[in-house]
Amino acid sequence: MKCPVCGHDCVKDAHEIIDTLHDVFTPCPGCSGRTLNKRAPLPDSHYASPCSCGKRFIDEVFAHMYVIMVEEGDLTGDDPLKSVGSPLIHPGFAMQHPPYLPPDSLVLLSSTVTQPAADRLVREVPEIRGVVKCGDFVPGPEDVDPDGMPEVHTLLAGCDVRANVFFTQAEPLVVYKQQSVMHIEFPRGYDPKIVSVGVNIRKYRPRTFVDALSGPGTLGLLAALLDVPHVVLNDIWYAAAFWSAHNLRVNREHLQVDEVTILREYDEMKRRPLVTEPLKIAETEGKQSVEVYQGDFRHLHTVLPPDVDLTVIDLFEKRHRGLVDEIVREWREKVGGDIFIP
Ligand SMILES: [Zn+2]
Ligand SMILES: [Zn+2]
Repeated sequence: MKCPVCGHDCVKDAHEIIDTLHDVFTPCPGCSGRTLNKRAPLPDSHYASPCSCGKRFIDEVFAHMYVIMVEEGDLTGDDPLKSVGSPLIHPGFAMQHPPYLPPDSLVLLSSTVTQPAADRLVREVPEIRGVVKCGDFVPGPEDVDPDGMPEVHTLLAGCDVRANVFFTQAEPLVVYKQQSVMHIEFPRGYDPKIVSVGVNIRKYRPRTFVDALSGPGTLGLLAALLDVPHVVLNDIWYAAAFWSAHNLRVNREHLQVDEVTILREYDEMKRRPLVTEPLKIAETEGKQSVEVYQGDFRHLHTVLPPDVDLTVIDLFEKRHRGLVDEIVREWREKVGGDIFIP
């Protein structure tokens, strides 16, 4: 599929990612690399080149980025190595060892990087897919007060679309997202929300499952992988609804669907980033029905069937106990069925 951010071939079908996992970050017999102290400056201005197999140890990639950022004045030579930023690996999944990175396998999130350095990083460091300048906030709207324009990070160079892979009771789930406009999550091998969805689906055996705040679609698509006949995903934020729809397409080969139809274009969605009344973004044909909406979840009841029997409400802001109770009470009144907060 053509990537909506960069126009290249960034988004693959699930099996194309899953098939690479066993050795994508494994070194060849000729690979080598130093383990560097991230809390100290780079000891010299040296970095190793990639191995003839095309991979390079992540610390050497960090050394390369550090040297460029010092040359461009983004860092002094006295900053610790970790000042380069946070590496988001593609594809992201729970790993036993630090990775040996192949080309195009890293999105850098950095608060210190500038445009000239970002351009050089994408041009000169083969492992980098994209460079994002980040601020000290979670990009995207808040759950409870979605008014006003949400803050987002800035993609300076390359492409920031990357995938996480979650291991489930069924097939692994491949979840793409555009990192500058969506929150960071990284599979840890034991993911409580993934477990919680599995437990609740086994307990309630729902016919119709709603993921009311779907983000990139992880929990709703997991319900679909676990064979729930009718699944509805919804998010108010254009990027979340867009990637929920595309992740439905990415994982369709593991669902009982014949076709996935995506009804809205990325550019059109980006022009109206927040939508209140639910707008259908994608639907399926086949034995299973999966629908994706963009809208405020408090209005989603207007398009839901009367037989919703299980809803997951995945709030960022779980700390406000009173608000959570109010949201659950309102959902129970308007939609009904069982509800869980993962
Ligand atoms: Zn792309
Ligand atoms: Zn090698």
